[in-house]
Amino acid sequence: MAPAGRPGAKKGILERLESGEVVIGDGSFLITLEKRGYVKAGLWTPEAVIEHPDAVRQLHMEFLRAGSNVMQTFTFSASEDNMESKWEDVNAAACDLAREVAGKGASIVGVNCRFGPDTSLKTMELMKEGLEWAGLKAHLMVQPLGFHAPDCGKEGFVDLPEYPFGLESRVATRWDIQKYAREAYNLGVRYIGGCCGFEPYHIRAIAEELAPERGFLPPASEKHGSWGSGLDMHTKPWIRARARREYWENLLPASGRPFCPSLSKPDF
Ligand SMILES: [Zn+2]
Repeated sequence: MAPAGRPGAKKGILERLESGEVVIGDGSFLITLEKRGYVKAGLWTPEAVIEHPDAVRQLHMEFLRAGSNVMQTFTFSASEDNMESKWEDVNAAACDLAREVAGKGASIVGVNCRFGPDTSLKTMELMKEGLEWAGLKAHLMVQPLGFHAPDCGKEGFVDLPEYPFGLESRVATRWDIQKYAREAYNLGVRYIGGCCGFEPYHIRAIAEELAPERGFLPPASEKHGSWGSGLDMHTKPWIRARARREYWENLLPASGRPFCPSLSKPDF
């Protein structure tokens, strides 16, 4: 595999996308900083930028080390409920929206937050069809949740009973994210990142999956062998046997909670 590093010259996002590069976004700020004790759930305001700049800076650095090419400003404010399109309209709206946005000269179109990787990729497929149908060209971007939420309602994961303090059993594994990155790439998406629940190791999984195409690994891969290869040094033979792609690719993780359902009923 290619050595860790970054492409040389500083280039803008559009310049990179125009030249066919993959741009890796960053991940979760509010949800992650809430778990770390710097954001209060409810209003979800980002005063940590002023109160605890070191905590915000540290998270930015973790995403950078994991392979993010983009540092988004942490400026989310209280009015989250009006920000996203409704799920029941997605089918029709994906086409309209892509056309509308691209028609206004947008260079990058895509979806962010509220839905898991699978749903977000399905939406991207519709957007892509919409763009093609309308004869428009735009770069595609996708930044889903780092949670599996196929059972959520039209407003997305906020309507799940586990939101926001009990979502842990839904966290995507790094292997889920490798699969997501590959599918996004195959769909033609070249700006690939994540939103709520998307931790630095998820970003690293994108960078690792696409290392053959991009030609390099992120700095954080110094501590991570491809597909669990580092486990071949383990003292236990049954754990050494997990140092292979087929093992992790086919794993069905248990929740560890005997009475847990695999899906929930959204509250709304
Ligand atoms: Zn989000």
